[in-house]
Amino acid sequence: MIATDKYMSAPIVARTDHAPTLWSIRIKTPDPLPFRAGQYVAFGLLNGEKVLERAFSIASSPYEEELEFFIERVADGALSPQLYQLQVGDRVQMRRKAKGVFNLDHKSGHKQHFLVSTVTGIAPYISYVRTMMRDLEQGRLEEPFRLVILQGSSRSDEFGYDEELRCCARSASWLTYIPTVSRPWEDPGWAGERGRVDDLVRKYTDTMRLDPETTTAYLCGNPGMIVNARDILRRRGFKTESIKEETYWAPGEGEVEY
Ligand SMILES: Cc1cc2nc3c(=O)[nH]c(=O)nc-3n(C[C@H](O)[C@H](O)[C@H](O)COP(=O)(O)OP(=O)(O)OC[C@H]3O[C@@H](n4cnc5c(N)ncnc54)[C@H](O)[C@@H]3O)c2cc1C
Repeated sequence: MIATDKYMSAPIVARTDHAPTLWSIRIKTPDPLPFRAGQYVAFGLLNGEKVLERAFSIASSPYEEELEFFIERVADGALSPQLYQLQVGDRVQMRRKAKGVFNLDHKSGHKQHFLVSTVTGIAPYISYVRTMMRDLEQGRLEEPFRLVILQGSSRSDEFGYDEELRCCARSASWLTYIPTVSRPWEDPGWAGERGRVDDLVRKYTDTMRLDPETTTAYLCGNPGMIVNARDILRRRGFKTESIKEETYWAPGEGEVEY
């Protein structure tokens, strides 16, 4: 039995498949689960006597009634292939508390935010954008500020939220979205940016004037990307406290292209 004081059982109310190994689910929790944009919650699965847990960033905004997640099925993974089997109406076991400090930096006074991600690492940024759109509409937030999102994946079908982000960027002058593919030869129709995100970090900090004095950088997803991008940002003059990181798995394990 999974302890009900720690976990709740919540139904999947919607599912969208983006690519063969990437999908989103929306979940309706029976009890409220307060969180701040950028936080994550752990899903649990009974594995013999123990509960196997994995963290997933919440892609929805705290203003939404349902929780949304953008998930990758990892080949031979312990939990994600089982999650992938679940359809609308099936239930997930989920921790009752959200965790994490990968929130938008309101402390430094920086007005520019450079959000870098690989594939599903876009999830917390979706939550930021949805939350900020609502806060602006309702007068809880004031411009000027600027968000520049750089998202990398192997092919363009893996972005998941590109339509939503492009649409937001058209109406919000404070938002720039730059998707980039690292395997353009597998994606002949792709006319956008090419190359891995870490190889583009220097280019966009320079051309978009994302200077260390005015900018906080955020790195989310693949540990290899995070290590490389952090080094590049440090050489560009970013201090440690201006670089926020959310590493999705341990460095050196499960190396994948992005
Ligand atoms: C704070 C936090 C937030 C996270 N948010 C998300 C999210 O929003 N969406 C999401 O899909 N995942 C997210 N993850 C990763 C997730 O928790 C699991 O690690 C992932 O689902 C794989 O779990 P698994 O049990 O299937 O694989 P495991 O059995 O844990 O891992 C199998 C192997 O794959 C490696 N690996 C783990 N994840 C990946 C990956 N994505 N690509 C390639 N190799 C990998 C592992 O290091 C290991 O070598 C997050 C992780 C953290 C720490």
